[in-house]
Amino acid sequence: MPVPPARSSTTMGIMDGPAPGNQPLELFMECFNGSTGTGGAKHQVTVHSDWTVTTPHDAEAERIAEAFGSYTSCVTHTERIVDAFRKSFGILTRAERVPLSVGRGGSWQVGKGHSISGCCRGTLFGGVVGAARHTRAPMHLAKQHKVPLRHLESFLGAASRTWGGWDGTPEVDPRIERLIREPGGVGDLWRAGIHPAEIPALASVGSVVDEPLPISFYLGLVYGRADRRWVAEVLPHRPDPDTAAWLAWLDEPQKRATPTDWGLWLRFGISKADVVVAVKAGIPAEHVHEVAYANGWPVSAVAAQFVKWANAGCTLKSEHFHAMKRNGVYSPKPSRRAIDALCEMVDNDLGPTTRKSLRDHPDRTDLAVMLEILGNRHEVRRALAQGARNPDDLDAYVKSYERADR
Ligand SMILES: [Zn+2]
Ligand SMILES: [Zn+2]
Repeated sequence: MPVPPARSSTTMGIMDGPAPGNQPLELFMECFNGSTGTGGAKHQVTVHSDWTVTTPHDAEAERIAEAFGSYTSCVTHTERIVDAFRKSFGILTRAERVPLSVGRGGSWQVGKGHSISGCCRGTLFGGVVGAARHTRAPMHLAKQHKVPLRHLESFLGAASRTWGGWDGTPEVDPRIERLIREPGGVGDLWRAGIHPAEIPALASVGSVVDEPLPISFYLGLVYGRADRRWVAEVLPHRPDPDTAAWLAWLDEPQKRATPTDWGLWLRFGISKADVVVAVKAGIPAEHVHEVAYANGWPVSAVAAQFVKWANAGCTLKSEHFHAMKRNGVYSPKPSRRAIDALCEMVDNDLGPTTRKSLRDHPDRTDLAVMLEILGNRHEVRRALAQGARNPDDLDAYVKSYERADR
């Protein structure tokens, strides 16, 4: 006989009733009629499985009294609070999540359309966990559902005794715990708004890594801006837990280069920061292989050279490496400041009309490599005056110069 599906939500494994197991929620709490005065009496409140509410009050009598007087009865207050609780339920049980956005300097905000004026609109949170916690805070939920904070707080406090607290670590299958590197990771992710039932699917994005993945990896996948499929495609190039977390937090990396190009750069064995420089500079990874192969150099050294030049604002091509090699330049030290000064000098020398003609004007990288070969900008200026426009032209130039020297 087939097993009937569980009554709980199939995707998240979350109950849909007011108490676990779709049971009625039984509370013993201060009467909302008394909460405006001092020392209100406590009484029973029952929220049934269908979300209707029972209190010891005579509901009809209170409604009539309310219609004639100015006071709001405990019955009405309780109904409003239960409605707010029901609407907050998805957030409290992590079946739902409020979108969060990361801004400049790594500060987090409650996403547009979800922040509340007079609460969290414009508020910067130090981290994703703090921002997620705010979306579950009674203050935020009370403002969102327009109910008195004091009533909601007292109701959530009473309900949390049944639910075992809204921020305590949920009990999970140890197999899920083992997917996270840090001890207590399930609890940390829970506090960041991530349900344990989501963890296996998130872990599968990094399944190529044969170790548990860091908390930061999971947070990045959920709240960061890297595409999950992109992460899964790049990761096989450097399958380790820290790279997985690093990839998950890159800012829309899928827009910068293909997974293959990112992956090849990661394989060169240079630092992750250098990989970002290379990708931002738009250097095709195959250029590194070309230069390394043509010269018999290690790829990691060539990749590091490309990055060094990219940091000085230059994009090298194979011929630049070859020109430096012919001229015995094996450890170039490109300086952004020196290259800036050279470019400025050349601009002044060539004047505004020539400056516009791209054909006659050597580009920044050509000038920078010529500077590296010739040693100082005055030598570059002399070569330019003799018609040299790129590092290859220097072969003839250097020869004639050396000949004149003899
Ligand atoms: Zn009452
Ligand atoms: Zn708020």
